[in-house]
Amino acid sequence: MTAEAGATPRRRTHDALLKDIEADLRSGKIKVGDRLPGERTLAENYGISRASVREAIRVLDAMGILRSSVGSGPTSGAIVVSDPSVGLSSALRLHVASSTLPVADIVETRILLETWTARAGANRTGGDEDLEQASQILHAMDDPDIDRAAFHELDARFHVALSSLAGNAVVATMMESLSGSIVGYVKGAMDAMETWPDVIATLRTQHHHIFDAVQAHDGELAARLLQEHIEWFHQKAQEATAPRTTLRP
Ligand SMILES: [Zn+2]
Repeated sequence: MTAEAGATPRRRTHDALLKDIEADLRSGKIKVGDRLPGERTLAENYGISRASVREAIRVLDAMGILRSSVGSGPTSGAIVVSDPSVGLSSALRLHVASSTLPVADIVETRILLETWTARAGANRTGGDEDLEQASQILHAMDDPDIDRAAFHELDARFHVALSSLAGNAVVATMMESLSGSIVGYVKGAMDAMETWPDVIATLRTQHHHIFDAVQAHDGELAARLLQEHIEWFHQKAQEATAPRTTLRP
């Protein structure tokens, strides 16, 4: 028998605060948009150190539950936000970076989700706001002076807006997280593309065709065009990032 046997296991202090905040969210005591008390008050209320409070806030910030604010005073507490893709994106991105999650598998999962949302979205009424948003993004991508980074950001948002038409918040969040997880890879590939003017012209045409199919409620066509679009771009990205081999005579 060890000396600790029978003793109450010590809860790590920041874990205790995390569990309490989770319980308060579940019960509705804390809601999205609420501001938590400042660091000092939380430390006093929970009887834990300010360092532990900061640790808990950092964890929740990384998970997209809180947005911590800087400074002190009455408005210094973290705000409860709802940004579920933040935590998923950064976790996925790190696992993509370590090569545990291959980019090709992320792309395949995107195709799976986007073809499903295209079909599901076509049969659903409503979603006018998402369609309007997709339309605005589509036209913003037509700006002839747009740079690669801005185009990529809009491209990702365009796909998320279209996915939202299916009305499934979990799938829309997963979509956003998946594109967030390979943002570095895609950006690197775009920067390496020597034929960017041709690539962007093709992407624009593909996006317009996809949007037209979605607007016409043709889910099958939209799904097929989305799959072709994603596979085509992935192929271009692979070619652009492939190690160059020196051609010998
Ligand atoms: Zn696209």
